[in-house]
Amino acid sequence: MQRRTVLAGMTALPLVGALPSFAQSTAPDTIPTSAGDVTITPVHHASLLLSFGNEVIYVDPAEADFSALPPATAILITHAHGDHLDPETLARVAGDTAPILTTAEVAGKLPEDLKARATVIANGASTTFAGMPVEAIAAYNTTADRLNYHPQGVGNGYVLSFGDTRIYVAGDTEPTPEMLALTDIAVAFLPMNLPYTMSVEQAAEAIKRFKPRIVYPYHSRGSDVAALPGLVGDATEIRQRDWYGA
Ligand code: ZN
Ligand code: ZN
Repeated sequence: MQRRTVLAGMTALPLVGALPSFAQSTAPDTIPTSAGDVTITPVHHASLLLSFGNEVIYVDPAEADFSALPPATAILITHAHGDHLDPETLARVAGDTAPILTTAEVAGKLPEDLKARATVIANGASTTFAGMPVEAIAAYNTTADRLNYHPQGVGNGYVLSFGDTRIYVAGDTEPTPEMLALTDIAVAFLPMNLPYTMSVEQAAEAIKRFKPRIVYPYHSRGSDVAALPGLVGDATEIRQRDWYGA
């Protein structure tokens, strides 16, 4: 059994040749809402885009080639680590006009032209951004030996409301009281890699608590996310996407 476990884990590693192409991996998914369809495009690691009406909303555009994707109309950034805030990529994606919603830490690191377009939102605050309600959900580590990676009070996750459909992009976090208190989440993007965020088992426990209807594991390099569906039961659909095919 030991050997089987090891082999099962290995199948989740990003082995070249065993993966679908980048084009397949980023094929968009459509979520119907009361206000029209939202299209979800997984891009890379922590980067994704949400299209809704005329809005093209990027979250954490970083460390990937976005040139084949449509220009951003709005950008959300969760925190300042390089796999989330990548100033060169951000400048290309942002073009001349896209507004940015982010944290105080990130705003302090932006070049002047982008800083002028940035709105800072604190943990727990709500605003209207890209024409829709957005809430900032605290994102931080809670395990003693991980606290330095994401201290409490710095990073944001976001809940965006598309009509009556709430989509949660968690950012780099463990299962916090703020996450576990969320209700009526249609789609959640949850990170699962150690030591920076949470384990697959922690993610499963969180899913069973706040009960998102669909979960996209992301920010999961090296983790055995294939184990997740067996840990969460049938109430939540787990959508495995290849975030590392490029
Ligand atoms: Zn981080
Ligand atoms: Zn990260």
